Amino acid sequence: MHFFKYKNSELFAEDVPVSKLAEKYGTPLYVYSHKTLLRHFKAYDDAFNGYPHIICFAAKANSNIAILRLFAKNGGGADIVSGGELFTALKAGVSPKKIVYAGVGKTDDEIRFALRTKILMFNVESEDELKEINKVAGKMKTKAPVALRINPDIDPETHPYISTGLKKHKFGIPIEDAIEYYRTASRLKNISVIGIHKHIGSQITKVTPFVDALKRVLVLIDRLSAQGVNIKYLDIGGGLGISYKDEEPPVPRDMAKNLLPLLRGRKMTLIMEPGRSIVGNAGILVTKTLYLKQGFEKEFIIVDAGMNDLMRPSLYGAYHQILPVKKQKRADTFADVVGPICESGDFLAKEREMPMVKQGEYLAVMSAGAYGFSMSSNYNSRPKPAEVMVKGKEHCLIRERETYKDLLKAERIPDFLGNA
Ligand SMILES: *Cc1c(COP(=O)(O)O)cnc(C)c1O
Repeated sequence: MHFFKYKNSELFAEDVPVSKLAEKYGTPLYVYSHKTLLRHFKAYDDAFNGYPHIICFAAKANSNIAILRLFAKNGGGADIVSGGELFTALKAGVSPKKIVYAGVGKTDDEIRFALRTKILMFNVESEDELKEINKVAGKMKTKAPVALRINPDIDPETHPYISTGLKKHKFGIPIEDAIEYYRTASRLKNISVIGIHKHIGSQITKVTPFVDALKRVLVLIDRLSAQGVNIKYLDIGGGLGISYKDEEPPVPRDMAKNLLPLLRGRKMTLIMEPGRSIVGNAGILVTKTLYLKQGFEKEFIIVDAGMNDLMRPSLYGAYHQILPVKKQKRADTFADVVGPICESGDFLAKEREMPMVKQGEYLAVMSAGAYGFSMSSNYNSRPKPAEVMVKGKEHCLIRERETYKDLLKAERIPDFLGNA
């Protein structure tokens, strides 16, 4: 559920007409609803209320500092995958004691940064990484808190690009080898083993994969406990799906209903790392119709947002609903909605039934809050779009639109190329 709704024929973001935002801030424009963000965050917090837990928002889904601040203010933490995300999370006011750090390729610099700022734990993905963290922590005369990321070999039944918990994936440690890894970890002087981690994929629309994966991990926890390894933090990752089209994914309450009984009597802190399910439907991408073009075989609606602004359709063939910002009484047509990028793969929708729009009219690409802006790039030297947060009648720019100057800010012409 979200708060982008039509009032009469006009699409609103909470209490503000989307057209007004487009006029004021320009397009393409990301618009987030504060009320939706908070509602989704609280849905998790309330659902797991009966068990000690930390909700570590997966920053890679949307790393805008204002969004991280909103969750931090409400007791949330962060799941990070890079030094840059750690920096942003700390600046946003996320407590380091609520930061968990995943990713298969952590560098020494990043490990040092995380140790210095005393994050809750590293979610370690390989033996090499474990030894590297031990070495870096040793040099810093400290102990690194660690969870091992287990690959439970569970099929999340989602798109292959966003599935992570099968044997063939680069993520985590094969569950059969886990005991051996824990043994290695407990022998390392500068490692303190405190947790276990799993994350099986994204946009998962059933409860079963979560239940099955948790059961496997719990068996492992019991075996570890028998060997004297005490797991304090159980991190079950993120991955809950949202409704882009007609999916009916479980809500956090359904997750809690199925998962909490499995944890009864176990003294651990549960960590969750939701990303998409919190921000996905809390954001839209507003774009302007530039041209209509009748191709050889089909019609194109050419808009000012491209694959550099929202990559998901091009990358995974993902479906995003596209709605007119002002509904008109016009017939429908079938069209491709495409951007200005010089790539045939640059589309937001293919052969989509769309209302006949006219030049200059605004469209809203729905469910664009997760993996939207955070995956954007400057390809074709396009400045990145602005981002706005709406709260009731208020609206505030949370990221300025990039300028041409921003594009060149880090580039240099060597002396040997001389003057123009
Ligand atoms: C991407 C990721 C998440 C968030 O996944 P969502 O599907 O957005 O909930 C959580 N944990 C880890 C380790 C991730 O890589």
